[in-house]
Amino acid sequence: MEHKTLAELSKALQNKEISSVELTQFYLDRINKFDEKLNSFITVCDEHALNMAKAADARIQSGNFTALTGIPVAQKDIFCTQGIKTSCGSKMLDNFIAPYESTVTHKFNEAGAVMIGKTNMDEFAMGSSNENSYYGAVQNPWKNNTVPGGSSGGSASAVAARLAAAATGTDTGGSIRQPAALCGITGLKPTYGRVSRYGMIAFASSLDQGGPMTQTAEDAAMVLNVMAGHDVKDSTCINKDVPDYTSNLNDSIKGLRIGVPEEYIAGDIEADVAKCIEETIKTLRSMGAEIKTVKMPHTKVGLSAYYIIAPAEASSNLARYDGVRYGYRCNDPKNLEDMYTRTRSEGFGDEVKRRIMTGTYALSAGYYDAYYLKAQQIRKLISEDYKQAFKDVDVILTPTSPSTTFEIGAVKDPISMYLTDVFTIPANLAGLPGISFPCGMANNLPVGVQLVGNYFEEAKLLNVAHQYQQETNWHTMLPEGYSA
Ligand code: GLN
Repeated sequence: MEHKTLAELSKALQNKEISSVELTQFYLDRINKFDEKLNSFITVCDEHALNMAKAADARIQSGNFTALTGIPVAQKDIFCTQGIKTSCGSKMLDNFIAPYESTVTHKFNEAGAVMIGKTNMDEFAMGSSNENSYYGAVQNPWKNNTVPGGSSGGSASAVAARLAAAATGTDTGGSIRQPAALCGITGLKPTYGRVSRYGMIAFASSLDQGGPMTQTAEDAAMVLNVMAGHDVKDSTCINKDVPDYTSNLNDSIKGLRIGVPEEYIAGDIEADVAKCIEETIKTLRSMGAEIKTVKMPHTKVGLSAYYIIAPAEASSNLARYDGVRYGYRCNDPKNLEDMYTRTRSEGFGDEVKRRIMTGTYALSAGYYDAYYLKAQQIRKLISEDYKQAFKDVDVILTPTSPSTTFEIGAVKDPISMYLTDVFTIPANLAGLPGISFPCGMANNLPVGVQLVGNYFEEAKLLNVAHQYQQETNWHTMLPEGYSA
């Protein structure tokens, strides 16, 4: 069963070869067996999931089902789920039971998917290794004591170890794609505004976007079908028809123009990762794609711009955690100021505090023009780079991450950690869709390749990834020790 994709499980459910209750129990048993070590879940919803599975079985019996009815899905613990703890990986929200449902999880519920649990993540989605969680680090199933990437590390680890048929993630600067790469799964960050952010706890509102984390591109297309769409509750969510993302998966990629930025070729990439990327380019060329060199001159300053803009927005978004209305409150405050100060000192972890301080500094009157304004100008130049490139090519290919996974505790200084997102951040700054999928192994560790497409071209990215997955089997590999 653990070798089956979501698409295959969906068929098995509809053909009544298996019930949703059986399938849900199968994953709950795997969570029981493996998650003590992996720590990929913050909350496992045993009873709730089995009840949802019963309801799903009834829907399938009655013929009123969708492709995701009865499929066990793990939700990143950043999506508010009514009546169920929603912690965002923080002590600040350790006691928070969401009073309402996010649009994304609501859509899964409507589709009849089974929510099996809430996955571990870096606190407030700040991180690239999942070491910043209040609930402890997550392990990558591919190697003992290594990180799954972040911030959606719990979701990536859970899908890689087959503890759920699919999961959701959110991506502000790479948090879907980078962990997908490090765990050997497929992850898609949609165009900004494609998926509603209502009820998705805010980190940097102009960058955050939710998306699917799955075994295959076909599975990601099926999950995106559920997640995407207009929502009046999110004013940045775009009112644009949602295509059926599975309908063009089988199109040939003959004649597809793939751009490879010359800046990336020259960048700091582990030699084994570079080798896998070269092989991938060869494979895509043999499938009929045309490879062109493109120029992205401003990507080298993308990381710096991101680390002004994201903390600036975070410092504003996180001002709401003050101990007054919900979440953590310090014991016995002496007065209001003492309550604010101690609540925030005790409730937030180090990385979150670092971001709030950087962001507040960048937005302060004397430095606003020098930092925030400058960063916004760079953001515009990066969008222009893409615009120019998309005149000549259909998609842009880079490694997802410069390295494979690393040991827990190995990367100590924040700047080195930030550098792991150097290839993913530019797409967030421009609001463009990006996908990462497995493209090889380096020393028995998964390597991911990234494709960035033009606005709303998720279907094209999924098509290319699916075609590649018809030619290769990297996406079918299961880490050792995780078979039934
Ligand atoms: N690793 C990046 C950061 O720490 C991106 C995080 C994200 O995409 N949520 O900000």
